[in-house]
Amino acid sequence: NGYFDHNATTPLHPAARDAWLRASEKHWHNPSSLYRDAGMASQHLESARERLGTLIGTDAERIVFTSGATESNNALFAPLPPDALVLISAIEHPSLREASRGRQVLELPVNTDGVVEPDTLKSHLSAHRPALVSVMAANNESGTLQPWRELAALCRAHGVPFHTDAAQWLGKIDAADLGECDFITGSAHKFGGGKGCGFLVLPSEDSRLGFIRGGPQEHGRRAGTENYPAIEAMVTALESLTLRLGEVAQTQSGLRDAFIAQMRARFEPLRVISECSPRLWNTVLMVMPEHDNLKWLTRLSRRGFSISTGSACSSGKEGSSVVVTALGASAAELKRVVRISSGWETTAEDWQALAVAFEEVFEELNRGGRPQ
Ligand code: PMP
Repeated sequence: NGYFDHNATTPLHPAARDAWLRASEKHWHNPSSLYRDAGMASQHLESARERLGTLIGTDAERIVFTSGATESNNALFAPLPPDALVLISAIEHPSLREASRGRQVLELPVNTDGVVEPDTLKSHLSAHRPALVSVMAANNESGTLQPWRELAALCRAHGVPFHTDAAQWLGKIDAADLGECDFITGSAHKFGGGKGCGFLVLPSEDSRLGFIRGGPQEHGRRAGTENYPAIEAMVTALESLTLRLGEVAQTQSGLRDAFIAQMRARFEPLRVISECSPRLWNTVLMVMPEHDNLKWLTRLSRRGFSISTGSACSSGKEGSSVVVTALGASAAELKRVVRISSGWETTAEDWQALAVAFEEVFEELNRGGRPQ
């Protein structure tokens, strides 16, 4: 299996597929309708909300189902007026960065490991009184984990709402205390659910959200018939992955580190971004010593391997890595960034085959780029 782009999207988890089929066949009725079958669909939907609440440590009433993380991040900013001051980290996903536009945005810088230090936030909170602070839980490009518990606690102490985009954290690391954040963004397709389904957690059941208007669904907070089968699949995927989090993290991070060691033995100098800070078990963001990332990508792709150049959401743009830019890399380095993100099903053989493919591509590129 040569799929190494799980941070862009993941294959459907088998349990999610079964759950989606069951829900689609049995409970396809409109949860807002008044007859018995609709009531059943509504009950199952509410039970999925409860189960998600248990997984992420929030009251079910705080959860609003959305079409994914992009919608959740946009909905978060929608109520904020143009004069609202917001603090966001320098390495946020484009969906959050773009959604924050039109407000008074101050960026929280990251340290050389790509981490927002609590002291940085502390000094900003002493100087300003923002309407919102937003720092992602895990970065999509480098996999760097942010100290969101400390950041959330600091915000709480200052009476400032704290949001975390947990799209890359969920399904990979335990999320049982994520509910300590006032707002949380999640996306099903990053952890084995289907595309076009996600959620936004709000501070309380009374919090309003008028981003998508129309019918009374989601307790009047997000109009439109709920996609119950996709929601059921999302929650089932997260439940399945949550059962094996520790074991998967241990095995997979070992495989990833062995891959880095093997790459380093072959490629000098190989710069792995945020190598010394806690990061997701599946992610390697690295700056290759030579050759443009698109050359690596296309030649690996021909050999059946899928990798990326920074973030899929900003690909196509030259020097697209938000993280490597925030770390102050040169334009030349930016062009050599590649991102590899494994998954729950990736094996030692898959990693080994990828390392061999990198060596073959290197030889091909050094010969002048002609394929064999
Ligand atoms: N936030 C983060 C951190 C992400 O990684 C992504 C997906 N690349 C998104 C938001 C957007 O997610 P979606 O595809 O669900 O809109």
